[in-house]
Amino acid sequence: MSRQSVEFSIAAAERLNETLNAFLEIDREGALTRAREIEESGNAGALAGIPIAVKDNICVRGMQASCGSKILGDYQPPYNATVIERLTNAGAVVIGKTNCDEFAMGSSNENSAFGPVRNPWDTTRVSGGSSGGSATAVAAGIVPVALGSDTGGSVRQPASLCGVIGLKPTYGRNSRYGLVAFASSLDQVGVFGRKVEDVARILGVIAGRDPRDATTADAPVPDYSASLTGDLKGARLGFPRTLFGEGLDEEVKKSVESVVDVYRDLGAEIVDVELPHARYAIAVYYIIATAEASSNLARFDGVRYGFRAEDTPELRLMYRRTREEGFGAEVKRRIMLGTYVLSAGYYDAYYRKAQQVRTLIKNDFLNAFERCDALITPTTPTPAFEIGEKADDPLAMYLNDIYTVTANLAGVPGISVPCGLSSERLPIGFQLVGPYWSEPTLFKLAHGYEQARPFTERPPISAS
Ligand code: GLN
Repeated sequence: MSRQSVEFSIAAAERLNETLNAFLEIDREGALTRAREIEESGNAGALAGIPIAVKDNICVRGMQASCGSKILGDYQPPYNATVIERLTNAGAVVIGKTNCDEFAMGSSNENSAFGPVRNPWDTTRVSGGSSGGSATAVAAGIVPVALGSDTGGSVRQPASLCGVIGLKPTYGRNSRYGLVAFASSLDQVGVFGRKVEDVARILGVIAGRDPRDATTADAPVPDYSASLTGDLKGARLGFPRTLFGEGLDEEVKKSVESVVDVYRDLGAEIVDVELPHARYAIAVYYIIATAEASSNLARFDGVRYGFRAEDTPELRLMYRRTREEGFGAEVKRRIMLGTYVLSAGYYDAYYRKAQQVRTLIKNDFLNAFERCDALITPTTPTPAFEIGEKADDPLAMYLNDIYTVTANLAGVPGISVPCGLSSERLPIGFQLVGPYWSEPTLFKLAHGYEQARPFTERPPISAS
């Protein structure tokens, strides 16, 4: 059984890759060997024989970890990320590494050094990003589940644009050991799936304290599947009306408002809430994320990993050329921005100020959660846009994350759930955001909606 499903996934990944460009590496041999071993050993782990795709910034032993960047290229890490260790111990089979924006910086996958991922609903459109390959692999039915990373929305946003579920857990819920760092105070490994139940199962396996990552919490890992009760009576859903205004596509707005009606019919109480500082979130995020990135990316110097520029007899010249040739334009832009906001003259004006506003954003959530169990918002302001449409306008691109970055700044969990198609047959998603450690509530609410209004549409480019 496990060999069949792994073989199916690999064949589909290979067949569709020319069209979708979702995978940077497909490990046919390795994956089939592991599937055979699992079958023969009678491994009865929770995920025995389940094929899974992994974003190319998460380390899997024996496979590449390019992070979508030329500077790492075909670099192979000698170890597994903790989340991978836990998944494979439970019997899951990694079939390949998925395309992503370079070092997870982007919202469209166009910043990958290896070309954009195409949206299976319309291949002239972006998949979203930065975990676009993983979202696409799930949406096209290549794999049932996949891993991504979410620093400012990179799991939830592509999930929404591709019509699948995407979860960003509470900061500290899973280990970041073996996830290549972008902005360490925001990064979290997230999960894509077509069913809430599958996402809940994967989180149950990967969550929990890891001695190799001091930011993981000791909080107990509940049985997430047990929260899928279908009983939403008395649940309180916060509706931040001001986020449903300017810049929001009319169809997305209508669609998410109709989700609110579904929740009301299911017995939930809808309460008005305010997030007064949410309008500063994009500015704050792009100061903090670039500051941390400029520091984290200092390690790519041509000595330790991957690519090194040729014909550079002098050390500093070698550093400079390696970084000049190895990094793409967006990564360089962020290193420069981050270095600037951390520099002596500007630290107080930008970085310190951003950290202060970050606290206000977090307090907005804490206040809102005194009155509700979770908030509902759109995941993205529009459905998937055309490839090339925003590529030359970084600010327009950054605005895509307006609904998602706040959860990372506050450290709270969020989940994107598909809720229909636009008139152009492009997926629309809504987002639920809850208090720290409220994944069981988010799963319960997402599952309740899924039962009431299942999203059964399939994209034109699909494995089956
Ligand atoms: N799109 C956002 C950015 O470009 C978020 C990226 C992410 O979550 N990794 O930074």
